[in-house]
Amino acid sequence: MLSQINGLARHFTEDTLRAYLLSRSTRTDNGCLVARGYGRQRGVYQKLAGRAWAHIAAYVVFVGDYDPTLEVHHDCGVPDCIEPTHLRQLSHADNCRERRQPPVCRNGHERETEPSTGRYRRICRACNREAQKRWRERQAAEVAAARATYGPA
Ligand SMILES: [Zn+2]
Ligand SMILES: [Zn+2]
Repeated sequence: MLSQINGLARHFTEDTLRAYLLSRSTRTDNGCLVARGYGRQRGVYQKLAGRAWAHIAAYVVFVGDYDPTLEVHHDCGVPDCIEPTHLRQLSHADNCRERRQPPVCRNGHERETEPSTGRYRRICRACNREAQKRWRERQAAEVAAARATYGPA
């Protein structure tokens, strides 16, 4: 629904907004559709069509089912991209988490890539393995301590 796009100039229909967005954007080699807003700065979120955010307008007319309580996240990491297949809705917290995906986990293990999404796997298997090992060692120590206290059965 166009009324969900804050700041959108009133004369647009879904069709004319689609045509407008395409006329103001350029396809790049990595598949992004980069929108050109009013400002001179590139590589940042773009405003156009009145005072509307380009990526939100694109989500509404190219993807649909826009939920204004969620943010529009760029899977490609390019803020001025409006390619519909690069846009995804996430909660604010998830969006913050997704935006900075360091190539290593907080314990310095190299991150694995999830084949289905092409993004880093959120769970680190090396950390997981180590946590399980620590847990088993703790269990074994507790059993040993219990045996020492109560003597051999
Ligand atoms: Zn993109
Ligand atoms: Zn790790």
